[in-house]
Amino acid sequence: MPYGYDKTRSERRCKMCKKLLYVFEVGEYCIDCSRKLPKS
Ligand SMILES: [Zn+2]
Repeated sequence: MPYGYDKTRSERRCKMCKKLLYVFEVGEYCIDCSRKLPKS
């Protein structure tokens, strides 16, 4: 496991800002971007 590896983050990235997503962030966007998305 590489130094600085953050196991709270997955390999997935937000589709909007390209930030690494946390493992608890489901879907394709980070929490910040999810809030910016229009509610459906
Ligand atoms: Zn984002």
